[in-house]
Parts: sequence; structure tokens; C-alpha cells
Amino acid sequence: MNFELSEEHKMFQSMIRDFVANEIEPCASKWDETNEFPYDMVKKMAEVGLYSVGFPEQYGGTGDELTFTIAAEEVSRGSGGLGISYLVTLGLAMNPITMHGSDEQKSRYIPRVIDGATVAFALTEAMAGSDVANLDMRYARDGDEFILNGTKIFITSGAEAEFVTTFATRDRSLGHKGFSAFVVDKGTPGFSVGKLEDKMGIHPTSAAELVFDNCRIPADNLIGEEGKGFRIALEAIDASRVTIAAQAVGIAQAAYDAAVAYAKERRQFGVEIARHQGIQFMIADMAVELDAARLLTYRAAWLTEQQGRPPLKEAAMAKLYASEAAHRICHKAVQIFGGYGYTREFPVERFYRDQRITEIYEGTSEMQRWTIARQITGTR
Ligand SMILES: Cc1cc2nc3c(=O)[nH]c(=O)nc-3n(C[C@H](O)[C@H](O)[C@H](O)COP(=O)(O)OP(=O)(O)OC[C@H]3O[C@@H](n4cnc5c(N)ncnc54)[C@H](O)[C@@H]3O)c2cc1C
Repeated sequence: MNFELSEEHKMFQSMIRDFVANEIEPCASKWDETNEFPYDMVKKMAEVGLYSVGFPEQYGGTGDELTFTIAAEEVSRGSGGLGISYLVTLGLAMNPITMHGSDEQKSRYIPRVIDGATVAFALTEAMAGSDVANLDMRYARDGDEFILNGTKIFITSGAEAEFVTTFATRDRSLGHKGFSAFVVDKGTPGFSVGKLEDKMGIHPTSAAELVFDNCRIPADNLIGEEGKGFRIALEAIDASRVTIAAQAVGIAQAAYDAAVAYAKERRQFGVEIARHQGIQFMIADMAVELDAARLLTYRAAWLTEQQGRPPLKEAAMAKLYASEAAHRICHKAVQIFGGYGYTREFPVERFYRDQRITEIYEGTSEMQRWTIARQITGTR
């Protein structure tokens, strides 16, 4: 058993840490305040190769699942908001194409992402949240086109995305067997961005309503086989779960670093607060939880490499634990900062807000517990 990263992974980690510390971290509070999506930063990240991570080599990709996990953690450590746009683009949103797309679709879309295009994954609807099988967006075939009609909500990067992967049903009476997956380019007539959510955190990235109103797309924008959309959606989510765990670890690491540094500087009762046992115990608990969260996360990434597919139970365990541990760690970080932790002068309140969503999207904590229990008990 070896708990060390390989030399190659260490070099990548060191490169991306420097990039994040120099380029992303200094801007993160500003993006949080202004809600501005940092298009220029995405271009810079693409220039240093960060948007090629995890794609197959034949389409210009580099690195493996662990490289992507490291990248997701480190970018999120700098900015949880940019982090989610980054990891959804490379993972969740592109998974349908990378895993099930035709060669032509891969050649058409992967190079655009490597150049810095943002992508969205549009599944959720008003009545299809945790219960994704309940979706209502319709599609119909008309000659060599498909026509899409329906509304998606809460779509990460929906306003910034150059294209989206999305899901619709041919006939609700077919249940999930009626689902198909599609890719839709921005600017397609009948496809528009609706309401933008006013969110608690991860500000620079939008959560948008996407409206498809008699939106016609070429038949070759169908991803995989017709009728396989439900499986394509679930596989995309299964494969991306570990990167949300990595996002939680990244935000928790940022909160932990800030809290330890502050505890060593801030003096009360004539000594640094780090000397008070109450603070020491919080720091010890944060360190243990952070380590456990990272180990579960990296194990799930490693298992994905070993098995050639995501490990359902271990990935759900990583996402569940890392997101809830990040909650506790960010809570303690605010506590260690005292009153200052509750102000916008310090970044820990942002970490606290950014972390919260990791317990909700890509399957709530309750859905992760359900997945874990079903794997253990063999129940459906
Ligand atoms: C900021 C943000 C970004 C998002 N990005 C995307 C995106 O890019 N693409 C996309 O498709 N979606 C996205 N979502 C949607 C997200 O995945 C859903 O919000 C999430 O899956 C939960 O669905 P819901 O909000 O409808 O909650 P509901 O499903 O209504 O759940 C409400 C509560 O009930 C619980 N619950 C539901 N069913 C059960 C059950 N059977 N047993 C026990 N408890 C249950 C849930 O755990 C939760 O606590 C995003 C959401 C947000 C807020």
C-alpha cells in the first residue's frame, strides 16, 4: 500500500498550487462580491493546460482521474465558485460526450473545451430534482432534426456555457426508457437563458434556468443511442461525484489554512489563541476530518483508475463525508476567527457559504446515504 502521490502527480500538484496561489486566490473575493464570471482566468487556465485534464490523449487530453481530482481540489481551494465551473465543464457536462459520444462529437467538442470553452449539464427540472426520472422536457424527431421543448433549472454555468448537454423524454409513459441525451450549442434558435438564481455562495458561476422552446437541433446532436439517456445521465453523475468531494476538500483546506494562521497570530488573554486548549481541539478535529475526507476522495479516484469505472459506494462515501466534513471544518474556521469570521473582511465566511452547496448538488447527502446503503444491502 502506498499513500504517496507519484512524482508526476506531485509535479502537477505543485504547478497548479502555484498557479492558484498567484492567479486565482487574489481575485476570489472580488469575484464573490461582483458575481463576475472570470472569462480571462479561464483563458489563462486553458493556456497552461488545465482544461485538457482528464480527456483522452487522442483528442488532446492529458492526465488521469487522480490528476483531475487534484485539479478540482486545488482550483476549488482558490475559488469554490470558479472550481465548480471548472470541474463541471471537464467532468459532469462533458461526460456524456466523452463516455458515449461519437468520434465526430468528441472531435467537435473536446478541443473547444481544451481551448477554454465552458460547458453545462442540464438535467434538473422543477419536478425532477433528486427524482431525476421524473423529467418532463420533451423531444420529437422531425426528419433529420430533433425538436426540444421544456425548461431546466439550477444549471451550473448555464449563462456562461458555449454548449450544454441535456436530457429529454420522447414520451413520459415510457418512464426512463423514453429519455435521450443531446448536445445543444449556444445561439441555437429556441434555446435561451432564463432566470439566474441569487445564490448563497459559489458566486462567480451562474445557476441558470435554460429554456428550450421549439429548439431544433441536428439529428447528429443526439448523444449515444436514442432511449439510453437515463443511463447516460446517471453514468455522467456517477463519474463526476468524486470531483465534488474534491471541491469540498479544497474549500475545507482553504478554511483550515486560514484558521490555523489566524490562531497563531490573534492574541487574547496575553497569548496567541492557538495556545488555548479549546482552539487546539478545534484545530485537531479539523485536521483529522480534512485528512479523512481527502483519503476517501483520493481512494475513490484511484479505484476509478484501477477498475476503469467509478466505484459507486466509495465515490458516494467520499462525496458524503467530504461535503459534511467541509461543513464542520468551515463552521469551526468561522468560530476560530470570532467576530471577524462573520465579516467580509476575511474569507472564511465565503468558504462557509461556498461549501454548503457541496452537500446538495450532484446528489444530496440523503441520496448518497441511499446509494451507499443500497450497495451494502443489495436492495433497490
Ligand atoms: C447552485 C446549484 C447548482 C446546481 N447545478 C446543477 C447542474 O449543473 N445541473 C443540474 O442538472 N442540476 C443542478 N443543480 C440541481 C441539484 O442537483 C438539485 O438541486 C439536487 O439534486 C436536489 O434536488 P432538489 O433541489 O429538487 O431537491 P429535492 O429533490 O426536492 O429534495 C429536497 C430534500 O428532500 C430530500 N429527499 C428527496 N427525496 C428523498 C428520498 N427519497 N429520501 C430521503 N430524502 C429525500 C433531499 O435530500 C433534500 O433534502 C444545482 C443546484 C444548485 C442549488
